[in-house]
Amino acid sequence: MAVRTVKTVRSSVWRNWAGNVTARPARIVAPSSTQELAEVVRRAAAEGLKVKAVGTGHSFTTAAATDGLLIRPHRMAGVRGLDRGAGTVTVAAGTSLRQLNETLSAHGLSLVNMGDIMEQTVAGATSTGTHGTGRDSASIAAQIKGLELVTADGSVLRCSAEENPEIFAAARIGLGALGVVSEITFGVEPEFLLTAREEPMPFDRVMADFEQLVAENEHFEFYWFPHTGNCNTKRNNRSTGPASPVGRVSGWVDDELLSNGIFQVACSVGRAVPATIPGIAKISSRALSARTYTDIPYKVFTSPRRVRFLEMEYAVPREAAVTVLRELKATVERSGLRVSFPVEVRTAPADDIPLSTASGRETAYIAVHLYRGTPHRAYFTAAEQIMIAHGGRPHWGKLHSRDAAYLAGVYPRFGEFAAVRDRLDPDRLFTNDYLRRVLGD
Ligand SMILES: Cc1cc2nc3c(=O)[nH]c(=O)nc-3n(C[C@H](O)[C@H](O)[C@H](O)COP(=O)(O)OP(=O)(O)OC[C@H]3O[C@@H](n4cnc5c(N)ncnc54)[C@H](O)[C@@H]3O)c2cc1C
Repeated sequence: MAVRTVKTVRSSVWRNWAGNVTARPARIVAPSSTQELAEVVRRAAAEGLKVKAVGTGHSFTTAAATDGLLIRPHRMAGVRGLDRGAGTVTVAAGTSLRQLNETLSAHGLSLVNMGDIMEQTVAGATSTGTHGTGRDSASIAAQIKGLELVTADGSVLRCSAEENPEIFAAARIGLGALGVVSEITFGVEPEFLLTAREEPMPFDRVMADFEQLVAENEHFEFYWFPHTGNCNTKRNNRSTGPASPVGRVSGWVDDELLSNGIFQVACSVGRAVPATIPGIAKISSRALSARTYTDIPYKVFTSPRRVRFLEMEYAVPREAAVTVLRELKATVERSGLRVSFPVEVRTAPADDIPLSTASGRETAYIAVHLYRGTPHRAYFTAAEQIMIAHGGRPHWGKLHSRDAAYLAGVYPRFGEFAAVRDRLDPDRLFTNDYLRRVLGD
């Protein structure tokens, strides 16, 4: 296909969701097929432009930023194939997780696990290792059965456990460093029901029972409210039904009014007058009451996130989670820090992806957030020092200060990823400042 047909958007400033990253690409294009994508990659390489595909900009890091050619995803979206027998769905890389989940549901199918939201693209989400919480089921990338990659010379490579297996192993979480993902095949299951049990619980009880809560539930997570001893816990387990979704009114009160509308106001007050934050945290942590509901998976896993924030998240060995959380609580208490956002804690089983934050080890995720516009450095640095003392691995899409020297030490398969990258992109067509920092060149 002639390159003239590729939609070229007049270059402008690109911004991420949180508004903390901006980039001025030399050119922005929106290809609508794998062929067009391969063509724009070849042309950029010939012109000496670096290349970066973006998703919906939900990363807090500069992972997607470029001053070269920026490839937008929206014209490469939609389902390309659904194989019930094999239990797979194949989608174009720019498909949103929302579209994927809704389409699957319309066919009586589902992913096995999801993160907190579904605004991201499938390629963007998997490229940074986006995950939810799970005892047995891992990240979204771990559900990939095959993918198609446009590499630096413009060739189209298919990979799976059988075809180009060493590239497949690495490219499921490829940080955009190995090429542009054009299509992904996910493993899916017949749609099932999950019963969610949300319940406030004291911090000390969650710490004492953490291993048991993880072991006894398919999906356990909790939020701890800094300046308080209060947590909100959530346990999701498969159910035989019947479905009993959150009521329209109570759902709106909990998920829109309390978790977004009033929370937004509370965060704004806290940002203007930080001394009010501990008091607000005590009220916020008691605002949500216990509830139980049963629904299809994506409606249980995900919820709207309208309040804009900055986030840092570390994966630590699961056995270190309680120690890390106690240290974090003690640090907040003895410092003058004022933290308006809860700390989110999730888990994942060990997986086999070289740059997965759960690669080869049972993992607990500990995420710290601050309302956008609040100075975040002191809090995030203090939290990061605790995480790295326990061999923490930062989420690739969330703020952190680690470099390749550190990361090579906490990822036993770092060299394996680097070797695949050297093979596929020796001239670093797909690099940017972020990759130079985290991968070393
Ligand atoms: C409100 C909010 C909630 C979130 N919730 C979670 C959560 O529950 N769990 C979690 O783990 N993370 C979560 N995140 C982080 C988010 O899922 C990741 O940062 C994810 O990468 C964002 O996807 P995106 O489509 O916006 O991609 P972008 O942020 O636009 O890009 C991410 C990376 O993917 C690369 N990329 C994009 N498309 C391609 C492609 N076609 N080929 C190759 N590389 C590509 C980009 O170059 C970049 O390196 C959340 C973020 C926000 C803002």
